[in-house]
This record gives sequence, structure tokens and C-alpha cells, in this order.
Amino acid sequence: MPCTQRKARLLLKTGKAKIYKYNPFTIQLKYVTGENKQECHVGIDTGSKYIGLAVTSENKVLFKGEVELRQDVKSKIDTKRIYRRSRRNRKTRYRRCRFLNRKRFGKWLPPSLQNRINHTFKWIDKLCSFIPESILHIEVGKFDIAKMINSEVHSVDYSQGQTYGYQGERYFIFARDNYTCQVCGERNKPLQTHHIIYVSNGGTNRVDNQITVCKNCHNSTNHKNGGIFYKWQKEHKKVKQYKEPPFMNVLRQQILNQYPQALITYGFETTIKRKNIGLEKTHYNDAIVISGVSTISENLHEWLLIRQFRKKKRSLHEGVPRKGRKEPNRIQKRNSKNTPYYRGFYLNDKVSVFGKSGYITGFTNSGAYVKGVDGEYIVLPNKSYKRVNIASLKFICHNNNWQYITKNAV
Ligand SMILES: [Zn+2]
Repeated sequence: MPCTQRKARLLLKTGKAKIYKYNPFTIQLKYVTGENKQECHVGIDTGSKYIGLAVTSENKVLFKGEVELRQDVKSKIDTKRIYRRSRRNRKTRYRRCRFLNRKRFGKWLPPSLQNRINHTFKWIDKLCSFIPESILHIEVGKFDIAKMINSEVHSVDYSQGQTYGYQGERYFIFARDNYTCQVCGERNKPLQTHHIIYVSNGGTNRVDNQITVCKNCHNSTNHKNGGIFYKWQKEHKKVKQYKEPPFMNVLRQQILNQYPQALITYGFETTIKRKNIGLEKTHYNDAIVISGVSTISENLHEWLLIRQFRKKKRSLHEGVPRKGRKEPNRIQKRNSKNTPYYRGFYLNDKVSVFGKSGYITGFTNSGAYVKGVDGEYIVLPNKSYKRVNIASLKFICHNNNWQYITKNAV
């Protein structure tokens, strides 16, 4: 059973327990106890950017935390694709033709979604494995995008969307904007459509992200920093991207299949309940409410932020080709940049140095870079370089690919 920090400290001090794991801090008793267990409720607030986690028992909050989900998967895979294309164009050895070798033929989800779904499952399983006799409560999102755009949509309207009857999406956009350029306001000019948030910046091809401009105004001056298109992009609140709803809908399906025993809630009541208890809007507070408590007698001051850390850059080649250089590349620097461990220290190890604690983010000649909890480099006072001598590091614990940051609740 989870215990208070004071009790854990006393057990460790008197030698009745030993540290089993640092993150989340777990101790193991050295003596046999009876089977004293209380009912625990695990609350999960799913989301596309953060997962809220909470464990409660009889109006007491035993644990609260948040998991930050990766948002960089798509851009990383895009970069990988670009590298691969350019590599295959410059290395022209014979490649055997390949076919029927795509995962998409079976059950397939885009990597950016699959990654977040896997993380959600992983942390639900992990939290439940710590807690004896846990009852799982999960809040999932259910979104109807067609209804979000037009609240009166029903039956056949779903298949006949707002662009129905138009020759193409662009003609819908022109008609919506009354065949008027939205920059100069003139009609009877050759019209074009412009993406308000560029697709390269995460914008969608939806009609709400596109706007009518004339050929004269759709020029490089307006695209530049400070130009009117740039300004539109800044006011991107104007445009709904609807990027989260599809993910939340997929996640709901997956959770219903994966955890048939879980008690599922659907969001709309959580905010009211949270306000009744008097908690701030945070993901872990939502999770506390989802776990089913109606009043709170004991709450924690601290919460845990869990974040993933990339230990190794695994690309085997360089992004910039070296073809055509006079000298071949004999001194490869990428390998020395890719050092996962050095003299007993691993990347992402928690260490203390100069009286502060932080995480190793990289290695250099007989030294390391250490970042504090706040994300700033820990440096010697009055020194401009970030390198810290390896001899001055004091090991606290290994962390594998996760960072666990304890924060104080406001
Ligand atoms: Zn114009």
C-alpha cells in the first residue's frame, strides 16, 4: 500500500525497509506483514499532449502526476524520409524491387498516434502494477467534428459536408469568401487559395485553414516576416485545426478494447465536479476527480512530471552529403557525439554537482553536460563554459529513458 513520505523515511531510517526504486520512489519492507490493503482508485485523464495520473483512497490523494507525450514523432519521421530519399538518390547501387512490405496492409496507425497510445497504455499498466487491488477509472474524449463545425448536423449531412455540391474545395472557399481577395478586398481578379497556417508548420488542408487571395496579393512580400500572411498565422486562434479530436477518437476505441474492466467517464462532468471540490485546472487534478472522490481530506504538495528522454541519435549517416568533396571524410565526428556512457556515468543519470542535482545530457572530453530540473545547464560560478568535470559528479540514480521531475503544486 502507498504510505506517507514520513512513514517511508522512518522505515528507511530504522532499517525496516530498503529502497527498491527511485522513480516513482518505491521501498520494500524487510519483514513480513499481514495482508492489510485498502481499496485504491486509479484515475486517468487521457489527452493528446498530457496524461493526468492520480491514485486516491478514501478521500486521500496518494499520488498525482502528469506524463508529457511526445509531439515530435511526425517531424522526426518526415526528416528521416527526406534523408532516406536523398541518400537513395546519391547511392545508386542496385536495389532489389520490394513490394507487399508495408505494415499498412494490416492493423496500422500513424507512428505519431501509435506512440502516444503505447505511452498511455504503458503508464496505465505501470500505475496499476504498483497499487494492490486497484479500480481503474479512465476519462476518454468523444468528439464529433462535423457537429463541432455545425451543431445542427444530422443523418445525411454527415456525408454531405460543407463543401458538398461544389466542384472542389477551392470553389467552396471562393464562394465562402464571396469571390473577394481577403487582402485588398477587390473582386474580379484571378483568385488563389492560401493556407493560413502553413502545412509545414502543422496546418491542415481543411477549408477553415484556407483563405481566398488574389494572384497579386499572393506574393513573397506578404509571406515574409511582418507580412500580412505572417500576421494571420500569428492570430491562428482564428482557425480551428481539429488535430486532437481524431486522435482522441482512436484512443477511445483502443482503450475500450484494452481495458474492458475500466470504468469509463466522458469528460463533461469532470469540470463541474472539480470546481465543486475546489481544485485548479490541471491534468493531475482532473485525474483526481476522475478517480471518483467527492471530497478531499488529504492532498499532496508535490506532483510528478514524467517526460521521455532520447538517449541516442540512431541515424547512421549524415544529413549533408559529402559527395564531391576533395578529401574523404576520415574523421567522423558523429560517433563521438553519440556517446551513451562514459566512466560509469550514463546519459540521463541523475547526479549532484556543485550542490545542485540534475541530469546528464551529454559527454565531452573527460567531462559532461548537466542540466538542472529547470532545464538550465549547471555550470561553475563565473564560468561561461557548460562542461563539468566528470570527477566532480556524484551519482544519484540511473533513469533509463525517462525523466521524473518532482514539482510543487500551486
Ligand atoms: Zn488582392
